[in-house]
Amino acid sequence: MNASILCSSIRKVSKLLSNRSAAASEVCKMCLGRIQETKALNAFITISTELARGRAARADERILEGLSLGVLEGIPLAIKDNWNTQDIHTTCASKMLSPYVAPYDSTIVSKLYALGAVVVGKTNLDEFAMGSATVDSHFGPCRNPWRSGLKYKLRKRSDLSLIPDDICTSQRKDGDFYVAGGSSGGSAVAVATGSCFGAISSDTGGSTRNPAALCGVVGLKPTYGLVSRHGLIPLCNSMDVPGIIARTVDDAALLLDCVSGWDRLDSTTVSSQPPISPLSADFDVTNLNVGIPKEYECSGLSPAIKAAWREVADLLASSGARVREVSLPHTKYSIVCYSVLCCCDVASNFARYDGIAYGHRAHSSGPEHPYAVTRKEGFGEVVRERILAGNYFLLKRNYEKYFLRAAKVRRLICEDFRSAFEGGIDVLLTPVTLREPTPYREWTLVDNREHNAVDDFCTQPVNMAGLPAVSVPCHLTEEGLPVSLQLIGRAFHEKEMMSVAKWIERHMDFPLLDFG
Ligand code: GLN
Repeated sequence: MNASILCSSIRKVSKLLSNRSAAASEVCKMCLGRIQETKALNAFITISTELARGRAARADERILEGLSLGVLEGIPLAIKDNWNTQDIHTTCASKMLSPYVAPYDSTIVSKLYALGAVVVGKTNLDEFAMGSATVDSHFGPCRNPWRSGLKYKLRKRSDLSLIPDDICTSQRKDGDFYVAGGSSGGSAVAVATGSCFGAISSDTGGSTRNPAALCGVVGLKPTYGLVSRHGLIPLCNSMDVPGIIARTVDDAALLLDCVSGWDRLDSTTVSSQPPISPLSADFDVTNLNVGIPKEYECSGLSPAIKAAWREVADLLASSGARVREVSLPHTKYSIVCYSVLCCCDVASNFARYDGIAYGHRAHSSGPEHPYAVTRKEGFGEVVRERILAGNYFLLKRNYEKYFLRAAKVRRLICEDFRSAFEGGIDVLLTPVTLREPTPYREWTLVDNREHNAVDDFCTQPVNMAGLPAVSVPCHLTEEGLPVSLQLIGRAFHEKEMMSVAKWIERHMDFPLLDFG
């Protein structure tokens, strides 16, 4: 079997498996091999080799027996390590949960298994999904595959033919690597390297779209309530959503259909929506109303991202779409509002890590209470800071000043989006991040809080409003780093948003990485 199969789409591999041109065990072996070859990127916290082999062998049996197959029969996928899995550790990239194995599978994982998927492992993240680079992980930082020093080739997305290139595939001269984005950096890297065909992530303020953008893959944040959060270890419950990372828009749409729907174990899920896939290959953008929010053109936006943004807007306009500027006036308050709301949720959610019920337990004989020692030892600095801040915001004397005020501002941010869509806009086109991937050393000069203020600027407001959004890779910079753009849709209008994303994907023809 040719190694370029690891650049193929889920549908194509499914076809090869069902007509027996390829075996699931062989595809699984190739993915496990790729995980080893790209191990230096630190995408995985746990590799579930035996479980994956077992599931792949079962898929092969089903195929041979001619049984009816699930849409993901034999397809290797990865899961961010903040989703509970019964047979594999769930660590949240924290020392606190490093010994933890959940007693149940998340709804999303059960659904994937029921459709025949093969889980190859659990992916790296910022501790408890707090971050935007996958740098603050107990298991070490994740590396961006682009210009990482590992050898790769570039393939044309449309026909997988090789693109000749040397500069863009060489390592940085100073030997440093680029951050992968976060917090779902491991999932994005795993997908980009061909270690799996798709990955489940999470998105509270951009954690799916940001790493997908920086690693040159597709990152989908569905409407809040479309996909069950049951089994996702919470960061900020009213903004957390499951995320999907895939190499193509079509694969992301297919995976969304596999995991969406009402779940009795998550009372915030809505009744099942019609499937969105397959997306039409010739979506017509004529008369599509595209909004360009002027507030997203902010200071610090890199020239390459700005240029790509303009280029795609112009391309849509010249193809018949109605592209116009819109205003989302409360955008600038989103980050500060998010920090308050997120920290308040963290303060309350993280009380459960007491060293008794699960996870790390400190053995202290000193004067400090074991609860305090456990939490001091188990949590990293970013987590401890957020717990402290959240408890401060929730003090009786501060509650109205911070929490209630932030909740009101959140409403204003939601209203901004509502008026744009009520004003006739179908999708909003924006940057995802303000800059291209940052070199690791440069990144570590600034703390997590400051990074969030910049990195989440374009992604975070969407979580406030619970809307769907997707990040689509568009260009490589001269240095060979991905530049992506974001589409934001109306609630539960994933089909329309993803169709536009597919249109952009087709026109921009961003290359695929091939580590084979
Ligand atoms: N960067 C944001 C944070 O640190 C968002 C992270 C996320 O979406 N999980 O909270």
